[in-house]
Amino acid sequence: MTIKDEAAREAVTTLGLLTSKAIPTIASLLANDLSEHPRAIATRYRKEGEQISDAEKKALGIRRNGFLSRAALAEIAPAGLTEPLAAHEITLLRATFTRLRYDRVAQGEAMRAQLGPSFIGYLHDTLHRECPACIRLDGLVTDAANAKIMPPSDCAPGCSANYGIGPKIDWLADID
Ligand SMILES: [Zn+2]
Repeated sequence: MTIKDEAAREAVTTLGLLTSKAIPTIASLLANDLSEHPRAIATRYRKEGEQISDAEKKALGIRRNGFLSRAALAEIAPAGLTEPLAAHEITLLRATFTRLRYDRVAQGEAMRAQLGPSFIGYLHDTLHRECPACIRLDGLVTDAANAKIMPPSDCAPGCSANYGIGPKIDWLADID
């Protein structure tokens, strides 16, 4: 399984806003170059293909100018229907942060050999202050094997787990 598949599966399963049928969709929406915001990517996905009718939008509480394709609606789980236009975006956001953490650790491992004793480990940095599970990770320093690339399973509902992982480097380690 690639990191994209794994990140998509985790985000879909943990958040529960989409059904498991959406895992390949989220994996394919995890853009290669990360230059586009997940919101823009998820919005474009909702706009593609045959759209639901105005009557269906009304029944779902979606504004008339909101986009939602039949294919996208079919992937939304009951829990995601309270905010149907956000279900893909929140899920994709969570999967994107997982992929970013994976990339940062892979880059860190490439640096580690060159840095020697200056390389302390991987520092976790939590930006989202509303999820107790993510806050627990803030300030944690680990080796690569123990880095929390995959987000906690007990996140607060709707948490995008947008904490970061970066190499912690002591530039003065070699200087006496
Ligand atoms: Zn969280």
